[in-house]
Amino acid sequence: AVEARGIHKSFGTLEVLAGVDLLVRKGEVTVILGPSGSGKSTLLRTLNHLEKVDRGTVRIDGELIGYRRKGNRLHELRDREILKQRSHIGFVFQNFNLFPHLTALENVVEAPLSAQKRDRDEVYREARALLERVGVGDKADEYPRQLSGGQQQRVAIARALALRPAVILFDEPTSALDPELVGEVLEVLAQLARDGATLVIVTHEVGFAREVADTAVFMDGGVIVEQGPPSQVIDNPVHEPTKAFLSRVL
Ligand code: ATP
Ligand code: MG
Repeated sequence: AVEARGIHKSFGTLEVLAGVDLLVRKGEVTVILGPSGSGKSTLLRTLNHLEKVDRGTVRIDGELIGYRRKGNRLHELRDREILKQRSHIGFVFQNFNLFPHLTALENVVEAPLSAQKRDRDEVYREARALLERVGVGDKADEYPRQLSGGQQQRVAIARALALRPAVILFDEPTSALDPELVGEVLEVLAQLARDGATLVIVTHEVGFAREVADTAVFMDGGVIVEQGPPSQVIDNPVHEPTKAFLSRVL
């Protein structure tokens, strides 16, 4: 489970997260919707301590992320310990962010070998199986520039899965794709959801959210204004900002 409590974050005088509580249970899919600038990416980045919070705590499977408690104070972990925590949290970005000088297969095995120090043969075997699972098994030896956007994003998903993560965070995973490639990536996400993965997905794909999410969260102005099953948040929103946003994107 992912538990964020009372998250506050400002950039200078701009308060971007103004007290966010988020609970994502194991095996559940949470989709985060909201207008540009509402704090969605920043929230996602605080969950793996890519962004340091001003106030609040994040726990993943009970473990405090980014900090250690000493008495009643929190002390930030060392970089090495933060990297170790992060190696159990998958992150898939809008722009794929594959290593351009590594093949698809090499991209997938990199973190399990270097950050998790796992057995080489096992990691390679698992990586090939993961590429198969996301439908790019035949692309193992290609470089990112030889792949379509949809194929690159599926390699990025395989790379995240290779960490055996407690949760995978997705920041608009389809918004950089040509329209005809969006479906194949959403289908991989839906399959992960059916397989019981714990996912947090920022997306503007409302139809996908309605079908796949256990919980839909609507953010506006750095707070969660609406949260619940998609049938409530998407189909029967009660807050004005949610209604206005949905009428624009639907
Ligand atoms: P979008 O839908 O456009 O991706 P978002 O909901 O993901 O928007 P964020 O990227 O979280 O929004 O940004 C929230 C606000 O914080 C914006 O006003 C943005 O300009 C500001 N912001 C984000 N990162 C930084 C930063 N590193 N320094 C200063 N301001 C930032
Ligand atoms: Mg964003």
